[in-house]
Order: sequence, then C-alpha cells, then structure tokens
Amino acid sequence: RAKESGRNAFRFFDTEMNSSVVEHLHLISGMRQALASQEFTLHYQPQFDLASGAVVGAEALLRWRHPELGLIPPGKFIPVAEKSGLIIDIGAWVLQEACRQGMAWQAQGLGELLLSVNLSPVQFRRGDIERVVLNALDESGLPAGHLDLEMTESLLIDDSSQLSELLTRLRALGLSFSIDDFGTGYSNLGYLKRFEVERLKIDQSFIRRLTEQPHDEAIVRAIIQMAHSLKLTTVAEGIEDAATLARLRELGCDRGQGFYWSPALPAEEFAAYVRAQRQSAGLAAGAQPA
Ligand code: C2E
Ligand code: MG
Ligand code: MG
Ligand code: MG
Repeated sequence: RAKESGRNAFRFFDTEMNSSVVEHLHLISGMRQALASQEFTLHYQPQFDLASGAVVGAEALLRWRHPELGLIPPGKFIPVAEKSGLIIDIGAWVLQEACRQGMAWQAQGLGELLLSVNLSPVQFRRGDIERVVLNALDESGLPAGHLDLEMTESLLIDDSSQLSELLTRLRALGLSFSIDDFGTGYSNLGYLKRFEVERLKIDQSFIRRLTEQPHDEAIVRAIIQMAHSLKLTTVAEGIEDAATLARLRELGCDRGQGFYWSPALPAEEFAAYVRAQRQSAGLAAGAQPA
C-alpha cells in the first residue's frame, strides 16, 4: 500500500514542504519587520495570592499586533522565532520592555509586583542572556527582586554545569526563577536538585478538569506536597472557575492566575485592574460604619 501511494505521497509532501518553507520565510521576515516597527507588545496577566486574594504579580505575555492580521498569539510565531534564532532579539526586547513597565508601575505607586517573564531555552543556549538581563535591569532601574524568569523543564533536563553556574550568577543579582508548565515535560525530577528555583507553575492541563478528574487532583496534590517539602512556592495556571479555585485553596496551592480573574491585559488596563481590585479589597477590609 505504501508502494502504491508512494509517488503521490512524495509529491504531496513536496508541495506541502515548499509552501511551509515559504510560509516559514515569510514569517521570519515579518518578525524582523515587527521588531523594527514595534509591532510587538506585552500583555500582562495578574497573579494572585490564593490565601489573601491579593494581586501579587504579573506574567508578561507576548503579542504581535500585525498590521493586517490583527493580534497574533505567541503560539503562532514563537516556535518559528526559536528555530530561526530570532527569539534571541525578540526575547531581549521582551525583557527590556517588561522591566521598563514594571519600573513605571512602581513609580506610579502600583507597588510590589513580581514581574514574570518567559524565556526560551534558545536564549539560554545561544543568547547572551546574562548581559541581556543585566542591561534590562540597569536601563529600567527595576530592582532585581521584582523579576521572575520562567523557564521550561526542557531547558533544565540537559544536565549542564554551565547552565547551573549561569543560573547561580543570575540568582546572585537577586532575581528568582520559576519552572513553567510543570508536570508536562519529564518524569525525571533530578533537575530540581541541581538547579535552584523558587516556584513551580503547575501546568493548566492538570488544572482544567481538577474538580472532575480524580487523577488530575491526585497529581496536583502530589505536586503541591512535593513543592512544599522542597520549600518551593506553587502557582496554578489556567484557573477558570470558583470551584477550581476553592479546590486549589484546600490543596494548599499558594498562587494562581487564570480567566476566572482576568486574561492578559494591555499595560494600562492591567494597572486599572490592579487599582480597582485593591480598592475593593480595601473597602471590604475597611472599617464598617458604626
Ligand atoms: P505560558 O507561559 O504557560 O502562559 C500561559 C498561557 O495560558 C498564556 O497564553 C495565557 O494567556 C493562557 N492562559 C492564562 N490563563 C488561562 C485560562 O484560565 N485558561 C486558558 N485556556 N488559558 C489561559 P499565551 O499568552 O497565548 O501564551 C502561550 C505561550 O507562549 C506561553 O505559555 C509561553 O510559553 C509562550 N510565551 C508567551 N510570551 C512569551 C515570551 O515573551 N517569550 C517566550 N519565549 N515565550 C512566550
Ligand atoms: Mg509562562
Ligand atoms: Mg505555563
Ligand atoms: Mg504554556
């Protein structure tokens, strides 16, 4: 059967491949252009302390405001940016912009927000990440303690002493690290011993059906217990409803983010959101009329 269709399959593959190569190249030149003409923008999703309900941070999430196609989500272009190496320049811009915004919010009195920035493994392997982080902190004036770098398990799985030394030097600046999408990458948890991190972000795939799927609950419970015995903070991603939030509180999860509160917002909307949220929390906690 393979023999019969072999010829056609080859032709099909050939045209598919060609068009995808063309698309790929098109996307790469588009992203170069986007960097130059400032079509990239960051949206910010609030992160909450589950016990107090207070906003404690923001995750910066990249968006491409394409002149014709509108807002393009990162899943559509980051994989190509990684393959082409362009993620190094894009990622440097993200760090710079997130730190600038974090400092601007601090100046506006928005207070102690932890700013989380996603980093691609490519930035660690091929980019001068140490200099890029130092520059972003220097230029913005953001205290390093307000910066959280999110890494994926796929980065930490390659057991390199170079990486471990790099992370130690970055940590010495005062910033902290989170492991993103925790639980989806590898069953080998040995890297938790080799690399010091502060937070585990439990992947949304375990949170989505938390209240319906006993297996998901068992996994989330185990992750939280393990994280706490390692003195790590747990952050749940993708909280969409009150029942899920209540269950995560019962399980002792520390922090969370999700559409239950808010999607990622443009910077000004995020600031307004935080102010409104704090005001209503203040009113709720304030003195009742006698
Ligand atoms: P991530 O870092 O795991 O980010 C969380 C993703 O989940 C975001 O998608 C966010 O909008 C979405 N999300 C948040 N709450 C909910 C919820 O309650 N329900 C659902 N269904 N989704 C929720 P987004 O913004 O499309 O980003 C996708 C991924 O792209 C990110 O996953 C991250 O891996 C990557 N990414 C985003 N910005 C950057 C960046 O600046 N640099 C790099 N290297 N990667 C980035
Ligand atoms: Mg993330
Ligand atoms: Mg994630
Ligand atoms: Mg993800």
